[in-house]
Amino acid sequence: MRAFAYERPTRLADAVALLGGHGPEARALAGGTDLIIRLRDGTLRPQVVVDVKGIAELDGDIREVDGHVRFGALTTMTDILRDERVRRDYPALAEAALFVGSVQIRNRATLVGNMCNASPAADTAPALLVYGGRIVAMGPNGSRHVPLDDFLVRSGVTTLDRGELVTAIELPVADGPRGSVHLRRTRRRGHDLASVTLAVSMTRDGTTRLSYGSVGPRPVVVVDETGVLADRRVPDADKAGRLHELFADASPSPTSMRAGPEYRLAMLRVLGLRGVTAAIERLGAATS
Ligand SMILES: Cc1cc2nc3c(=O)[nH]c(=O)nc-3n(C[C@H](O)[C@H](O)[C@H](O)COP(=O)(O)OP(=O)(O)OC[C@H]3O[C@@H](n4cnc5c(N)ncnc54)[C@H](O)[C@@H]3O)c2cc1C
Repeated sequence: MRAFAYERPTRLADAVALLGGHGPEARALAGGTDLIIRLRDGTLRPQVVVDVKGIAELDGDIREVDGHVRFGALTTMTDILRDERVRRDYPALAEAALFVGSVQIRNRATLVGNMCNASPAADTAPALLVYGGRIVAMGPNGSRHVPLDDFLVRSGVTTLDRGELVTAIELPVADGPRGSVHLRRTRRRGHDLASVTLAVSMTRDGTTRLSYGSVGPRPVVVVDETGVLADRRVPDADKAGRLHELFADASPSPTSMRAGPEYRLAMLRVLGLRGVTAAIERLGAATS
């Protein structure tokens, strides 16, 4: 591991100044479950690591603010799993958080770190995308909101500007019942990153939002407004046809050691049908 300076600012403005001053040579540190590994294996070699856990303005709270449920920069996967409202209103996110690593990893891994790492296999990304998540970033020019769909570019790359820190992730409060679910496929049981991830969110007007990950450079979100996927009476074969159209942008890497492209695409279609079926059931339960 290359030597680096370690900074632990206590004020947000100081962290922003440190990150802005060093640009790509500085890295924020939250739970460290991604960053420490990359520092050790040398794929990241920053001069300065800025630990954000001591910043007074940042927290791990989950609370409602202006029609959104806000997850602070220090909210861990364990915090998400323990939150009754998240389990009730955003079950796909709770299910995704439960898939992340082990208990020890979930106790440290933050939701914000999962997004800033921008892995195509990040488990929580599809759920955040189907729920319409947005990033809250603070930088030298103040605070801004960025839809998560505009934030994720490709593995390790986001649209965060120089000097910016993510202070929270926000999800709109649901405006009615919905059925949602997160599914994933891994190469083996236990610890493993996903070969395919999928989240589905369905509302009573027949709209179905799906997001799939690990089958391309970044997770993708698509919307079915035909009502075909949400209709119990439509046969699976017709739904499979609609899913095939919606998954057109899936492009798994042919060089991944985790699974071949044909397998991933086949599993994406399997998860698609399972996800839609589960969402219909859950929407039915939520409306009855
Ligand atoms: C054994 C193991 C198993 C894992 N299993 C899974 C899994 O099943 N599914 C999955 O999705 N992930 C998995 N991970 C990856 C990891 O746990 C998650 O990506 C985690 O959520 C990252 O959060 P963190 O707080 O640890 O981030 P860190 O490692 O601290 O940071 C990750 C990246 O985000 C940046 N960052 C962090 N906070 C901020 C901020 N506030 N503003 C700007 N940039 C920031 C950092 O600079 C870094 O680039 C696993 C990791 C390990 C070690």
